[in-house]
Amino acid sequence: MNEHDSERMAGMLEAEGYVKTTAAEEASVVVFNTCCIRENADQRLYGNLGHMKRIKDLREGEMRIVVAGCLAQKDKDLIQQRAPYVDVVLGTHNLASLPRLLSESHEGPAFEILEQTEVFPSALPARRTSPWHAWVSISIGCNNSCTFCIVPAVRGREISRRTGEIVAEVEQLVDDGVIEVTLLGQNVNSYGRDLDGRPLFAKLLRELDRIEGLERIRFTSPHPKDFRADTVEAMADCSRVCEHIHLPVQAGSDRVLKRMKRAYTRRRYLEKVAMVRQAIPDVAVTTDIIVGFPGETEDDFKETLEVTAEARYDAAYTFQYSPRPMTEAADFDDQVPKAVVQERFDRLIALQQRISLEQNQRHIGCSEEVIVEGVSKKDPSKLSGRTRTNKLVHFDSDGAREGAFRTVRITGALHHYLEGVLTDGRNGEPRARLTLPLVASGTGCNTCS
Ligand code: SAM
Ligand code: SF4
Repeated sequence: MNEHDSERMAGMLEAEGYVKTTAAEEASVVVFNTCCIRENADQRLYGNLGHMKRIKDLREGEMRIVVAGCLAQKDKDLIQQRAPYVDVVLGTHNLASLPRLLSESHEGPAFEILEQTEVFPSALPARRTSPWHAWVSISIGCNNSCTFCIVPAVRGREISRRTGEIVAEVEQLVDDGVIEVTLLGQNVNSYGRDLDGRPLFAKLLRELDRIEGLERIRFTSPHPKDFRADTVEAMADCSRVCEHIHLPVQAGSDRVLKRMKRAYTRRRYLEKVAMVRQAIPDVAVTTDIIVGFPGETEDDFKETLEVTAEARYDAAYTFQYSPRPMTEAADFDDQVPKAVVQERFDRLIALQQRISLEQNQRHIGCSEEVIVEGVSKKDPSKLSGRTRTNKLVHFDSDGAREGAFRTVRITGALHHYLEGVLTDGRNGEPRARLTLPLVASGTGCNTCS
């Protein structure tokens, strides 16, 4: 969501005649677009601002510093107090005000934080960072009240964008050369409830699936409590929707899930994973997990390990619980000591890495369609690309450009990426779905091996 907002801010600045530079020493405007989901972002901002102040001082009035995003929304006046040299502060609800505030800042600091969204960010110009992939916001804000999460406080109530507008944006993107979109919302499965009273996400997927020239549709995130059969059916029916679901579990113990106010149980969650695996046999499942939520006991944590083992995630984003202001859990009086959290966290990572490795090894011997993302960061003589299941593959380079399709045979697997070699067989059309065995065999998939 923040990357998407950054693209919009860059787009507005370009429309004003600014051009991008990668050197702060040359910049006339530096924008920090912030996130406050976890505490370390707070701490990093003020360090980064201090560094930028030193550069600004050398530039003698030629540079202006902007702080935008969730942290600005949360900290409001604090930024002015702690960093009075910041020229513009704007929150999550008024991205559109950036050009006006910048021009006002010639007269002195311009700070504006609103409590409600003025203009849906998607209505603003964008400077897309990728020619072939685009983030597409389908809703902003969140109506849930997970007790650990600051998002509702800084992003506000959920507002869905009209389906016609989303379809029109994606059609335009495809005309501009985009082949993959990722739909964004804090809870994509409640998309549309504020439009006509019922969730419309499955219908949206079906409408987008009809767009000629669009190759891949991804989305993040569905909330497990609202993730239902109609979405799974749409995923299975729509050939452009990728075989990947990110279904954040957060914790494995019902007691912890209840205190988190997640509104599902471990059993209901695992049923949903089973439902999607049954409908789309080669689907990749990823998740978010929080370790050390207040009151989490060793037994609770063991249940998180059990769910992790049972769900057999392809990958997991694992977080140590971070108390956030304006959230209920920050006031719970049974915070878990840091050393205990760290020890559990290490155990969870070790388990997940083993499972990720086994899940990845199942692909060895398979032919996979990838979209090239560019030169491999691991080995510059290679390219990297992503499979429909969102796995990163490093493979020998034939000079293909970003956004090209290639077919690669998977020759190796580590827990966080695959290795492959180019094979004949591209294509132009999305490949037929492969059927992989559910349980690790290490010897490739049913179809290829
Ligand atoms: N809307 C998504 C959902 O409900 O699953 C989550 C969006 S949140 C921006 C991304 C992830 O950050 C969460 O899934 C959670 O795992 C993590 N997170 C949020 N608040 C956190 C906190 N206070 N401490 C640690 N991790 C947190
Ligand atoms: Fe935060 Fe929960 Fe909303 Fe996700 S669903 S953004 S975790 S409040």
